[in-house]
Amino acid sequence: MTDESGRLLVPLVCPRCGGDLEAPSPSRVGICLNCKVATFMRQPENEYHLFFIEARERRPSSEIIYAPFWLVKGSGSFNCGDDKKKRIYQNARKLGPLYFPAFWTPKAANYENLTIRYALAQESLVEDKEAHGAILAGVLDPSRLAAMAALCYAAYLDRLADVTGVEASYKVEQVAYAAVPFLKAGKGWTDGVLGVAFPGAYFFGGGPTSALNVTKPETARGL
Ligand SMILES: [Zn+2]
Repeated sequence: MTDESGRLLVPLVCPRCGGDLEAPSPSRVGICLNCKVATFMRQPENEYHLFFIEARERRPSSEIIYAPFWLVKGSGSFNCGDDKKKRIYQNARKLGPLYFPAFWTPKAANYENLTIRYALAQESLVEDKEAHGAILAGVLDPSRLAAMAALCYAAYLDRLADVTGVEASYKVEQVAYAAVPFLKAGKGWTDGVLGVAFPGAYFFGGGPTSALNVTKPETARGL
């Protein structure tokens, strides 16, 4: 189906239940809370499991916001002719799943650091089946994730020993969409998992970061 100017119109319905997807502008990711499904609008045939991460402390809903991350599970590998480096890489802590910010941010570098921190603290990232709340708009195209994962893995190796001449690759096994809690802290926010502080402008600095106010599905209300 196309509109008058010939652009492809993507129906904003859940691929599973046919219900409306929640994805106000500028979100490029539509979500269905009933089915716990996220889809990227340009490739609506791909479904990703949507889940919330548990916050380390309870907060009223006005002090908590969920930032969406693409969660990449897989494994990194390297090819390295230097035995000394090889030993360093082999003895390094294995990275857990990689969380890449799906929301728009003017300070992407801050979140690259968070990606590695989460990958090294995977036991702290636990699904919260009861959680619900406002989720920031998701804009990152998931087709970039394989390349981003390979770069992230190479950056991790580089922290341990210079990766010049080292081939790093990453095999993606699974991609999901994770809503990670951030908690209000003064004028800024801290991530609700490890307590890393972010000045408010990193989220809300006038960019296209409208939050999607998500209400808990009726079936899960339980009251
Ligand atoms: Zn659905």
